[in-house]
Amino acid sequence: MIDDVRKAWLRGAYLDRITEVAQHYAADHSHFVDSEWEAFIGDEFEYLTELSADDHSYLRDQAGLEAFRRIVSALSATREEAFGKLIVDNADVIQSDARFALDLGWISLLQHAADRVRTYPEAWGARIVGAKEKFGCCVLHVACDYSARGCRSEVERLREEVRLRSLATCEVCGASGRLRLSGYAKTVCDQHAPVMGEFREDDGLWADPWTWNEDGDYIRDLLEKGRALISEYPAESADSVRPRPKEHVTDPLRATAIGKRIDDDTWSREGREQELLVEFGWHLQDAVNGAAVKVEYLDGYVHDEVAGWREFAVQPLTPADEEFLQGYLRAFIEEEYERIKNNR
Ligand SMILES: [Zn+2]
Repeated sequence: MIDDVRKAWLRGAYLDRITEVAQHYAADHSHFVDSEWEAFIGDEFEYLTELSADDHSYLRDQAGLEAFRRIVSALSATREEAFGKLIVDNADVIQSDARFALDLGWISLLQHAADRVRTYPEAWGARIVGAKEKFGCCVLHVACDYSARGCRSEVERLREEVRLRSLATCEVCGASGRLRLSGYAKTVCDQHAPVMGEFREDDGLWADPWTWNEDGDYIRDLLEKGRALISEYPAESADSVRPRPKEHVTDPLRATAIGKRIDDDTWSREGREQELLVEFGWHLQDAVNGAAVKVEYLDGYVHDEVAGWREFAVQPLTPADEEFLQGYLRAFIEEEYERIKNNR
């Protein structure tokens, strides 16, 4: 191990070499990929025979960080330019301060959305105000007059179409891709899969994080049949807010009574509550099933359970998020207790 003083000295003394190596890598890589970096950096710095193996390894780490920083800043400059152009080119339908928090591969989906919004009746006042990547999906934000006749169902349809297309489109380059899961969710092609690092065991099992129950065929089906099928999407019905496949009900969550209830609750809520139920449905089910504790310990149990989910959260849980999850879980467990008592 080397201490901070040694590290500071190494960094200062070899900064030009760190920079040179980082520049070299950044020059022909648009994304930082751990495995590619490992291959690139190899045993760099070992020619500095006056240094120890730990020193070499520290310098390689520093070069990696520097390369990463350079790539990220180049990428964000490119992104800013591209989204800026998209806004200018579509100034009639995209708000000038629209915010786009996603990668460039999906820009064609946004152009498609802009072209579609352009065909809407003036009275709807529809404008694209932004889009972001969430759970590997492109979530489009459109401001419009929802009370105008026909507006809401069409805008919802467009948003869902963009979302489903994004689940088949590499967010990095726009080629065909699928949803993949590592430490996070992202839709990428085979070529860009390494960007994500190590995959989770259940990578490939989920094609659509919104519904959890489709396989890739279903999504492809939807995309091929296009709007005809998507337009069956009943945007305003509470109990089937999202399209579900009729013939193969394979959602494992819905296989149990508890899971089914959580899934139903999920699609009857909206906003952040819905997101939280989507994200933590499995955890909630496990926590309800595992709640074999006396009532006086229930508060502690619920609190600890929810606290344990923080590390899995796609984005940091706010106190309000945790409060909602705790309240939902607590009420569910109490009902289960009641049900079990009455069944005796
Ligand atoms: Zn790609």
